[in-house]
Order: sequence, then C-alpha cells, then structure tokens
Amino acid sequence: MIEINNCAFETIEVTGYSVTCDGGDELMGHPRIFLEIAKEKHKVICPYCSKTYVTKKRV
Ligand SMILES: [Zn+2]
Repeated sequence: MIEINNCAFETIEVTGYSVTCDGGDELMGHPRIFLEIAKEKHKVICPYCSKTYVTKKRV
C-alpha cells in the first residue's frame, strides 16, 4: 500500500524507481540530480525542493 502524505509540497507520480529532479520551475529550480526510490517505501523526497516522487502501483 502506498501512503501519500498530505503535505504542502508537490507529489509527482512516476514509473520505475529512479527519477531525475531539477526543481521543475524557476523559483524552485536546482541542479539536476538523480533520486533512487526505495523499493520498500515507494517514494523519495528531493532534498533540494522537497517534492515527493511516488512510484505508481503496478496493476
Ligand atoms: Zn528537486
């Protein structure tokens, strides 16, 4: 089961377990980094912009 916290920051659904994040816009922008989504947790939080990336549950 995937838990999505109701927080002030954006939550982005992705497929797979590795994502890149560059902040997405000019205000929150930061150098592009790679994030690994922990397979047990199904989500990772970007340390720069605090966006939460959630792996979509496979059907
Ligand atoms: Zn980010």
